[in-house]
Amino acid sequence: MPNERYRAAVEYDASDEYHPEPAPPPEVPLWKSGGLRIGIHTSIAGDIAQSLDRANDLGANAMQIFSASPRMWSRGIGRLGPADAELFRARRRELQLGPVVIHGNYLINLASPNPVLRARSVQAFHQEIVRAIDLGADFLVAHPGSFCDGRAGAGILAIAQGLRQAARGLKLGPLKILLENTAGQGSSIGSKFEELKAILDACADLPLGVCIDTAHLFASGWDIRTAEGLDVTLRELERNVRLERVAVVHMNDSKTALGSRVDRHEHIGKGKIGSEAFARILSHPLLSGRAFILETPIDKPGDDRRNVALLWKLAGKPLPASTAAKNIAKAAPIRRVRRTPAKRAAKRA
Ligand SMILES: [Zn+2]
Ligand SMILES: [Zn+2]
Repeated sequence: MPNERYRAAVEYDASDEYHPEPAPPPEVPLWKSGGLRIGIHTSIAGDIAQSLDRANDLGANAMQIFSASPRMWSRGIGRLGPADAELFRARRRELQLGPVVIHGNYLINLASPNPVLRARSVQAFHQEIVRAIDLGADFLVAHPGSFCDGRAGAGILAIAQGLRQAARGLKLGPLKILLENTAGQGSSIGSKFEELKAILDACADLPLGVCIDTAHLFASGWDIRTAEGLDVTLRELERNVRLERVAVVHMNDSKTALGSRVDRHEHIGKGKIGSEAFARILSHPLLSGRAFILETPIDKPGDDRRNVALLWKLAGKPLPASTAAKNIAKAAPIRRVRRTPAKRAAKRA
């Protein structure tokens, strides 16, 4: 039988079996490796990738930016050039900075009862998401919005619907949208944890989380100055939105008093909250793994650098090595005054 000759060749040998390489484990971003992440909001003036170097130079290993002018409606499609976005991603990989947080435009109000403003807000928020995806950002922070007709419930539904409309057709990938708690100024939604929870619940199909701002917490009546006050606040956050959904903490001291409902950020330790409270927040076990991002004012040159350094100090951790070296180099050099013989004579006289 002619087939006999081939029998040996077709015999099963386990070693001939195709063994594909095991799939690599999903890449864990460096910033999720467990080390402390301290960031600051930096300017995108010049080219947007420079914002990464600014944060890095200030001693931050995380950062927040606006991806376009925060107080203007962007004209046209408001997209970044692909070269700018690629440069940003490449530089970010080099600096190993993360998370990268984008703060949304201040004009966006998904709860606006004015149909034109609401439509514009949905479109602008859509553009925010597109730019955040293009930049490879981890989080997009949004203020929930303000209702103007006295009905918070209707506002919450409008926000949830607006978020869904803005995200329609987009693949968000690892990007998460974070709703920021507000100070409760005017008719803004989001100073109550219940309101944040209601929006999260109404958008269960979207990758949503929460960003907690310390100055807004304090202005909305949460006394985070003491250990007990912080515990009560975190317990209520857990009960409403669940702490695992809190990804970013905005670290701002407050110019205004407890419960003032007025949002005025102050340098860490110079406001009504005080440094001790920030030290407790940085080391609280229920907040470990979060990114702590400063949005403090720059009243004097170097304020940003001082606030970053103070957070590292309050956390009991050294500044990242590269920055510590730069800080020494930036310290004023010792000036040697050389006097000419004529000047020496004048001084003696
Ligand atoms: Zn904000
Ligand atoms: Zn904030």
